[in-house]
Amino acid sequence: MNSCIFCQIVQKEIPAEILYEDDRLIVFRDIKPTAPVHLLFVPKKHIPTLMDLTEEDAQVIGHLHLVSTRLARELGLVGRGFRMVTNYEKDGGQLIYHLHYHFLGGRPLQWPPG
Ligand code: AMP
Ligand code: ZN
Repeated sequence: MNSCIFCQIVQKEIPAEILYEDDRLIVFRDIKPTAPVHLLFVPKKHIPTLMDLTEEDAQVIGHLHLVSTRLARELGLVGRGFRMVTNYEKDGGQLIYHLHYHFLGGRPLQWPPG
């Protein structure tokens, strides 16, 4: 078993509340939400951090952002607003070393974040 928790979710070895899935991408609810809508957009490929991206990953990252617009529409957040963010390494607050984007919405979000 791969010890990466997001790979385990991709492989359905541990449960998650999945909102969207295709061959390249999975989107599920964060287990400890910090906003009424707190989703994680996760490329299925195990890419540890943003800094490990290569040219061959460019398409899935573009695809991920397009899917975020689709979910934003479905969740009624268009016009209201939301935030997509990725955390890189210690100072960025990265805890899980499988690239993911937080999609946050449903309340006014502070800027700058802490
Ligand atoms: P990061 O600090 O950017 O690495 O964020 C990791 C996120 O993954 C945190 O917001 C966690 O709450 C979330 N998380 C950890 N384990 C799970 C899980 N099993 N299912 C859903 N979200 C998780
Ligand atoms: Zn992984």
